[in-house]
Amino acid sequence: MNVYYEQDADLAVLQNKNIAILGYGSQGHAHALNLKDSGMNVCVGLKTDSASCAKAREAGLKVDTVAEAVKWADIIMVLLPDQTQKSVYDNEIAPNMKSGATLAFGHGFNIHYKQIVPPADVNVIMIAPKSPGHLVRRTYTEGNGVPCLIAVHQDATGDAKAIALAWAKGIGGTKAGVIETNFKDETETDLFGEQAVLCGGSAELIKIGFETLTEAGYPPELAYFECMHELKLIVDLYYEGGLSRMNYSVSDTAEYGGMTRGPRVIAANAKAEMKKILEEVQDGRFAKEFIDECNSGYKKLNELRESNRNHPIEVVGAKLREMMSWLKKK
Ligand code: NDP
Ligand code: MG
Ligand code: MG
Repeated sequence: MNVYYEQDADLAVLQNKNIAILGYGSQGHAHALNLKDSGMNVCVGLKTDSASCAKAREAGLKVDTVAEAVKWADIIMVLLPDQTQKSVYDNEIAPNMKSGATLAFGHGFNIHYKQIVPPADVNVIMIAPKSPGHLVRRTYTEGNGVPCLIAVHQDATGDAKAIALAWAKGIGGTKAGVIETNFKDETETDLFGEQAVLCGGSAELIKIGFETLTEAGYPPELAYFECMHELKLIVDLYYEGGLSRMNYSVSDTAEYGGMTRGPRVIAANAKAEMKKILEEVQDGRFAKEFIDECNSGYKKLNELRESNRNHPIEVVGAKLREMMSWLKKK
């Protein structure tokens, strides 16, 4: 696995280029501001009625429509929601993109699942920070960066990888380390991780733990603390030092109970199901299902959101978080 640092990337590659960043959300604002502060010529592409236009201008950035920014640009970074990218690409990017331009992404979904098929005369690259956008910005302003993945899907000009590395450097990534991958691996591991472990797996574990306690007659407040609130403390330990640090830090009782009972909860059937979920990611069934869901107006997604909102753990959680002065309301 190739890992790149400061000396492996040259900012001069970006210096005389016009850089368009489409979108000014979580990732867009971080890429745009970090590159501007790295001395690059940046323009943000947005809809004219977007509230983000004013925010970007106040931060000292040029702002234009997507079509105009793309016409002007040598490098176009697409930081729009994944489900919006195809229609913006078809209607506003493709008709305006210069030959020899570089089309860049922060996640591989639309290229890997062929929702976007760029012409052969443009570079197609990815620079994916492994963190939310606000941390990409904050670490940069503190003189650091977050680890990033880069990938080259199409190299029309012969310097696609140098551009990806320079971009990673411009947003601070080479200070932490940049790992080279490909669109397939980034997309498939990202989807699997969020489905099986990070979002899907952890949410279900929390819910059934809470249900088991409350159905046995224990107060929902206690169940909330044990099954949701304290999880953050445990995850922080994983984050700092892996499984060993978590087991070192908890009591011997928790360590023994966890190691002997955990594998009964997450047992062979869990791994068998995870393998099926991975297959659905790999063969495109998940992507097709999600694209169909978006195209039909998010009916199922809205139903699932509603049922999650009404789960008893959400009701008691909202009440208990009122007691936590350090949690600022958003
Ligand atoms: P956000 O939802 O935070 O921001 C999307 C931006 O796109 C907003 O500024 C929005 O405008 C703008 N936008 C939406 N539709 C259009 C349109 N039709 N025309 C022009 N602009 C539009 O997205 P994220 O930053 O979360 O995600 C962007 C990409 O980065 C995705 O590919 C995602 O997978 C990837 N990524 C995200 C990470 C994250 O931490 N969030 C981590 C790593 C990768 P407005 O401001 O008006 O809403
Ligand atoms: Mg993801
Ligand atoms: Mg305990």
